[in-house]
Amino acid sequence: MSKTVFITGSSRGIGAAIAKLFYRNGYNVAINYNRSEEEASALSKLLAGSLLLKGDVSKEDDVKEMIAKTVSHFGSIDVLVNNAGISVVNLLTDTTLEEWERLFSINVTGTFLASKYAAAQMIKNHSGRIINISSIWGISGASMESCYSASKGAVIAFTKALAKELGPSGITVNCVAPGFIDTDMNSDVTPEDKRAFCEETPLGRIGTPEEVAKMVLFLASDNADFVTGQIIGCDGGAII
Ligand code: NAP
Repeated sequence: MSKTVFITGSSRGIGAAIAKLFYRNGYNVAINYNRSEEEASALSKLLAGSLLLKGDVSKEDDVKEMIAKTVSHFGSIDVLVNNAGISVVNLLTDTTLEEWERLFSINVTGTFLASKYAAAQMIKNHSGRIINISSIWGISGASMESCYSASKGAVIAFTKALAKELGPSGITVNCVAPGFIDTDMNSDVTPEDKRAFCEETPLGRIGTPEEVAKMVLFLASDNADFVTGQIIGCDGGAII
């Protein structure tokens, strides 16, 4: 029987690449979007048989309903990927409380809510994989991204604690920390800043969403049966 993956924020970027790769590997795929209806509908048509779910990960009722629909449609959730995220690039002194709260409500509360409701049914099955998408900035911190870095650091601490709590229930919890990946999130980065980042990266380039997706698929696979609580960089060596 096919396994089921639920990927938050899979209308675009890294989440969409994860959806496509899991689909190609035989998974039932539940695609979540919030604002990008057109992109998400096109993706769900491409991945015939996938389940399309509109919902805001920062809202408890939305998350509860999306998890319940996925379980009732496919029978279970075997893999949860907490990918939905936003960034704020700004000096601390120019960052508003609203920006801070929005960052945390999506990047941290969203990860908490989806994990909470998916874990409840994974515990019943005594099996499951939770894979969180953090960032290298959650490890090392980035200037002008202090609030984003804090939210991604929270995801890392959550991963480690949850791995300890859910391990006895047969569930692994891991985290991928991507470096600079070519998506809409970085559309405002200037060519000069991109070049500078590449020069500081041992592999000398930025990454693709597909490369992050491959790491996520590995963590969901049998090859990672004995891996939990780990924060795995996918960054061309940017953080060593
Ligand atoms: P992206 O291209 O901007 O896509 C973000 C995705 O998150 C979209 O599918 C968006 O859906 C979804 N999303 C945002 N708010 C949401 C909400 N409230 N509820 C549900 N979905 C929501 O970004 P990306 O680069 O693919 O980033 C994906 C993840 O990787 C994020 O967690 C990001 O922090 C992390 N990351 C990215 C990079 C990078 O360089 N790109 C590096 C490190 C970590 P809608 O458009 O439908 O709202």
